[in-house]
Order: sequence, then structure tokens, then C-alpha cells
Amino acid sequence: MTQQTRTGLKELQRLDMRIHSARQRIRDFDPQFEEVEEPALILESELETSRNRLKEMKAEERRLERGTEEKRERVKRLDERLGGVRNLREEAAVSAELEMVRRALQNDEQEAMTLIDQVRKGEERVSELEAAFMEASELVEPKKKALLAEREEAMKDLDLLEKKREAFAGELDPEELRIYDAIRGKGQRAAVAELTEDGACGNCFGIVPLQHQNEIRHGNTLIRCEACGVILAAPDENGGDDDGSSADVSAGNAGAESASDEAAGSDEAAGSDEDAGSDEDAAAVGASDDSGDDEEE
Ligand SMILES: [Zn+2]
Repeated sequence: MTQQTRTGLKELQRLDMRIHSARQRIRDFDPQFEEVEEPALILESELETSRNRLKEMKAEERRLERGTEEKRERVKRLDERLGGVRNLREEAAVSAELEMVRRALQNDEQEAMTLIDQVRKGEERVSELEAAFMEASELVEPKKKALLAEREEAMKDLDLLEKKREAFAGELDPEELRIYDAIRGKGQRAAVAELTEDGACGNCFGIVPLQHQNEIRHGNTLIRCEACGVILAAPDENGGDDDGSSADVSAGNAGAESASDEAAGSDEAAGSDEDAGSDEDAAAVGASDDSGDDEEE
């Protein structure tokens, strides 16, 4: 294994970190969607409650109306009977009943008045809520649309990164890749770390034995930190180049002498990526090609 292979692993880790944050970014949209929809949902539920309440009041109003109608009818009939009574006793009885029905009628009318007032207020409340709900709903759609578009963008970014990663990983030494994947797992754990200037692991800062330090610097064998298990890589020659352009740098460093041999493999690997139409991707693949294939010659 050459030093270039380890450089490839470092680049792979940078890609994986970008993929990890791209996935996080996509997940972060979920609460945002809820937040956008929440005001309208609350109003909708309030509106439903108010509508039901109003419906009940109107049913009660109708029941009361029928009752009053009946009582008025009875008052009319009792009045007529009062006109045709034959003696005082009968007159007293009819008068008493009439008085009773009239009082009940009065109560009903009183109740109906109150209810009419409540229905009016209920109707006002419902139309207020309807307007507020409409307004909130109108706001939801454009906001949702904007979020969907943003999420779509983020998903495209992720897709590109994943394709890039796939192509890139395909060019790495399979055994080193297997170890890398096993260490990294599904999370954000570091799988590769650089040796620090004073010979410590860049991940846990445990001191690495001198013999191992030399092997790491020459890149002959894959050495893992005895303390934390990360794959140790030699530092980048030009110092902390963390801006993601290091793939191109490694392409420059890597086997120029075997460039012609690489050409066929490089085109093949880049083929799938060209569909996605990114020159940058093709460049990254080219870079990994140089580093990966060196070993097999
Ligand atoms: Zn360590």
C-alpha cells in the first residue's frame, strides 16, 4: 500500500463527512415542515370545535321553537275554552292551566332570546376562525413549496456526493476500504487520522511507536492506532488542505509514470459519473484512479 492509498482514505473520509451532514440537513427539514403547518392545523381544529358547538346550539334553538309553537297553540285553545266555561270552578281550572302554560311559554321565550344571542356570537366566532384558517392555509402552501424545493436541492446534493463516494471508493484498495468501513460504521466516527508532527495519533493523541511512525510516513503498510483503532495516515505534504480540493492535489502527486495505464480504467469509472454531468466528479474519480491502481501493477 502506498502513501497515496492512505491519502485516498483521507479523501474518502472527507466525502463521508460531507455525506453525513448532507443527510442531517435533509432530516432537519421534518420539524420545519411541522412548524409551517402547525398554525393552520391549530386553527382548523378550533374551527371544527366551534362549528360543532354552533350546530348543537342551532338544534337546541329549533327544539325550543317547536316547544314555543306548541305552547302558543295551547294558550290559544285555553283562551277559547275560557270563553265557553259553564261555571266558576271550571273557569278557575282553565285559568290556572292557562297561567301555567303562559309562564312556561315566557320561560321558553327567554331561553330562546339567550340562545339566539349565543348563536349569533357562535356564528361570528366561526367566520372569524374561517378567515384566520384561510389566511394561515394560504401562507402554508408557498412556505411548504419553498421548503420542498430546498429539500429537493439538498437531496440532489446528497445524491451527487453518494455517487462521487461510490466511484471514489471503487478505486481504493478493497481491503483498506473494508477496514475503513468497519471502523467508521454508520456514524460519524473517525476512521482515518493523520499522524501529528510529534508522532501522536491525530484522533486520540496517543503516542505512536517510532517503528510505526516510520511505516506510516513511508506508507508501506496500513497501521492502526493501538489506542483508538483509527487508520493512521501521513500528514498532507502541503499541510492542512481541508477544503476538499485535495483530491486534485493527490491526483498531481500520484503516479504520473503509470498515467497511460490508468487511462482506460479512469474512463470506465468516470463513465457513470458523467451522466450526473459534473466535471468535478470526473476529476475526483481520476484522482482516485491514480492512487488506487498503482498497487496492482
Ligand atoms: Zn488513536
